Amino acid sequence: MRIDRLPTVDVDVLPDDPSPPDVWQERSACFGIDPDVFFPISEEEAGPALAFCSACTIRSECLSWALKNGERYGVWGGLTEQQRRRLTRQVA
Ligand code: SF4
Repeated sequence: MRIDRLPTVDVDVLPDDPSPPDVWQERSACFGIDPDVFFPISEEEAGPALAFCSACTIRSECLSWALKNGERYGVWGGLTEQQRRRLTRQVA
């Protein structure tokens, strides 16, 4: 699966002051899932993680946390690490 398109993300509606993961992880779609799923060895293998994110009710909180804390690795908030880098460059 090619993950080369950056999904539309309106950064203006992301929480300004996201809580840390220990506050919301039990409500996440990925709770209890093997963390390795969210750290694929390539962008092309991120599909399973992105499928969890697409069904997650706290995606905005997760993405905001990752962006504000400069999480470099893994899938957060429905974006791969490359997609977050591109998003960060777009809004800089
Ligand atoms: S958005 Fe994705 S990575 Fe973040 S908590 Fe939800 S399922 Fe997990």
